Amino acid sequence: MADRLARTLTADGTVRGFAAVTTELVEEARVRHGTLPTATAALGRALTAALLLGGLLKTGDERVSLQFSGDGPLGGILVDATPDGAVRGFVSRPQTHLAPRAGKLDVGGALGRGLLCVMRVPAGEGPPYRSIVPLVTGEIGTDVASYLADSEQTPSAVGIGVFVEPDGRVAAAGGYLLQSMPGADPRTVERLEENVGTSRPPSELVRSGLDARSILTGLLAGVETHVLEERPVRFACRCNRARVESAILAMGRANVLDVLASERRAEVVCEFCAARYVVEEPELQALLASSS
Ligand SMILES: [Zn+2]
Repeated sequence: MADRLARTLTADGTVRGFAAVTTELVEEARVRHGTLPTATAALGRALTAALLLGGLLKTGDERVSLQFSGDGPLGGILVDATPDGAVRGFVSRPQTHLAPRAGKLDVGGALGRGLLCVMRVPAGEGPPYRSIVPLVTGEIGTDVASYLADSEQTPSAVGIGVFVEPDGRVAAAGGYLLQSMPGADPRTVERLEENVGTSRPPSELVRSGLDARSILTGLLAGVETHVLEERPVRFACRCNRARVESAILAMGRANVLDVLASERRAEVVCEFCAARYVVEEPELQALLASSS
């Protein structure tokens, strides 16, 4: 099942919903960062959450970023997503794996107690919009729902899940986000709550072969929907050689000369996607010459 984000609006415009299938991009993140199962689930849930919140971005917003920081062994998670469905991210300690709790990967235990910082970055000038809330469970979905309720005053149902095979590969990942806006018909809200309450967990829905559109249709059963569109989503980073070169220059002339003298090359690994860039001696010298 290809990775997709589906969105819908009810006929009266007061309830919106998003569902995502993210199996392939979470598997790509696992391979890139070499995460162990608990870290894979944590990263995969956060990547999925960023894509769901990315669906809420307004025209003109550049990206949304989510930073989870906790006192557990995982340390933290940083992910960001753009409105066109590109997402990237990493965890502080990819080798984190805990014993499962109640048969599930213990993401809450790995993250521990801490904070979720959500930042919306506008495309042009202007400061980012930043909001910080305490983690509720560290299980990601509940934390994002709490952020939406507290900071955006939008009651939301959020479900996110990642199923990791015993051999460590990602078998299924996905999630949903449903929001009712002021003026929503209480009967519609009640019906949605019922649907969410009886729905199987998102990772099971994806594992059973449902696509993003079908997950959304199931959650909105009995409610008349207005728009239903779907778009591809993918793991994609914004790093490139030019950015690496300016990062090297930003180290300062003395430090670059130091690297030249000792290593004769600079090696830079992108935190977000683990891409490795090697800048050899002649290029380093050219860089220094061009900047002086
Ligand atoms: Zn990168």
